[in-house]
Amino acid sequence: MQFSNRRRKLLSNPQNELYGHCLQFYSQSPTENISLAEFETFAVERLKLLKTVENLGVSYVKTTEQYQKKLFNELLNLNFPYKTEADDRKDQNGLTEFEKRRKDHISHFILRLAYCQTEDLRRWFIQQEMDLFRYRFSDLPARYKTEFLHRNNLQYDTLSLEEKKALSDKLINSSYGISGTMVVEQDFYKVPFQDALDLVRSRKVFLKGGYAYIPHQDIISIVLNDFRTRLSKALALTARSLPAVQSDERLQPLLNHLSHAYVGQDYSIQKNIGKISLEQIDPLSGKSFPLCMRQLHKSLRDSHHLRHGGRMQYGLFLKGIGLTLDQALQFWRSEFVKGKVDADKFDKQYAYNVRHMFGKEGKRTDYTPYSCMKVILSNAPSQGDFHGCPFRHSDPELLKQKLQSYKLSPSGIAQILDLVKGMHYQLACQKYFEMTHGVEDSGFSLNHPNQYFIESQKLLGGGGGGGGGGGVREVKREPETPQRGQNQNAATAKTSSAPKTQALSAQDAAEMEDLDTLFMDE
Ligand code: SF4
Repeated sequence: MQFSNRRRKLLSNPQNELYGHCLQFYSQSPTENISLAEFETFAVERLKLLKTVENLGVSYVKTTEQYQKKLFNELLNLNFPYKTEADDRKDQNGLTEFEKRRKDHISHFILRLAYCQTEDLRRWFIQQEMDLFRYRFSDLPARYKTEFLHRNNLQYDTLSLEEKKALSDKLINSSYGISGTMVVEQDFYKVPFQDALDLVRSRKVFLKGGYAYIPHQDIISIVLNDFRTRLSKALALTARSLPAVQSDERLQPLLNHLSHAYVGQDYSIQKNIGKISLEQIDPLSGKSFPLCMRQLHKSLRDSHHLRHGGRMQYGLFLKGIGLTLDQALQFWRSEFVKGKVDADKFDKQYAYNVRHMFGKEGKRTDYTPYSCMKVILSNAPSQGDFHGCPFRHSDPELLKQKLQSYKLSPSGIAQILDLVKGMHYQLACQKYFEMTHGVEDSGFSLNHPNQYFIESQKLLGGGGGGGGGGGVREVKREPETPQRGQNQNAATAKTSSAPKTQALSAQDAAEMEDLDTLFMDE
């Protein structure tokens, strides 16, 4: 093969050799040293890319121009590789194509570490990586597809000319857009039919004796199957070596955060703190709370108690929409004393927990409300729990009944249940948002229960920052409630010196060891 001088010079560098093709099969792990900052940036940006892949995959048919255009733009925005020819010229963001390929390579391996930990995470990661790979491979010109196969030693059994001639009619009839001349000129691959289920399902391939006969133009089906098998094995292997990685105290919290991460704001700073009254919570729960919080609120009102998982999830959400510490104490106390907990017991057992949530006790961590990913992927509810994500954790039949009781249309419910079946829980929630707010397109990509609340308030005219109840603009303030009980003085004295945790990783680590254990009492 002839290379131009420029290209020969570029490829003489071993690292550039590794990134000589715009697409990777990720069979070689990176060996260079990178900074922690780069590690985190690469990981977060790939996560953003994969989230976009997930959202687009549900909103558009994957072969449509719209899907491809939007995915292409996201690759461009996030500085992932998109050119077939590599060069060392910098783009408007100051990056060369090689640097982008390096980022593609390294970021994939970082997310492997974060997403190998559970079956759910692995499944999600494989699905998004496959969709991304499909788009990028299909977009390649034929010459680059062949080059990719050679580079990665992907050799599939081809039919001889005699075999093709013997099967010519059948190949023409069962393969889309194939003529007699093409049968002779094009390679046809013979693979076990289970390796090409996409084509079998859509009846686009000739089947005989348990084999599928695939024209070169549809080779993506087998390449993708190979990609999935390799990635799945690699994730299982990575999971085995995870204890070694997790013993690195710099990486462990970061990887944990990534696997629970959502991309976007963390809602730890409440712009409208104190601009919501306790009376507004009931109407707001019906109009602007996502289903997870609506369920928790109802359960609290019905049974006057929530177990620790529910208190954490709901308590931090309320903090995120603007409840002050005093309001939160009043809210939880007034509800609990209606049940089996008297005021004294509340002050002794639960008030400390609420203050802790606001960073006024213990390590003074200013805890952030849980993102959807965190709710969906960690601490699944068990019998008697009401926390979690109803789209992920409820029995589909119960979910259906709940949606019916909220008077959602049968077709809307069917769409939501379809999304749930496809494990697109956040998209199901977004559909629930659209239906309950009477809009065609929510216009945002849901990552966080507090984001749901803010978007709802924007639509309903409540300002979106925590204040207002479904269009309620005037906000009534509760009278200041003095803190009661034995921890009051200690809490007040400690408040001023509260250090604010900066790094995501440190915060995650603190949450793991601190808040969870504090909330263990029932
Ligand atoms: Fe709550 Fe997010 Fe689940 Fe919606 S998708 S119910 S906001 S956890």
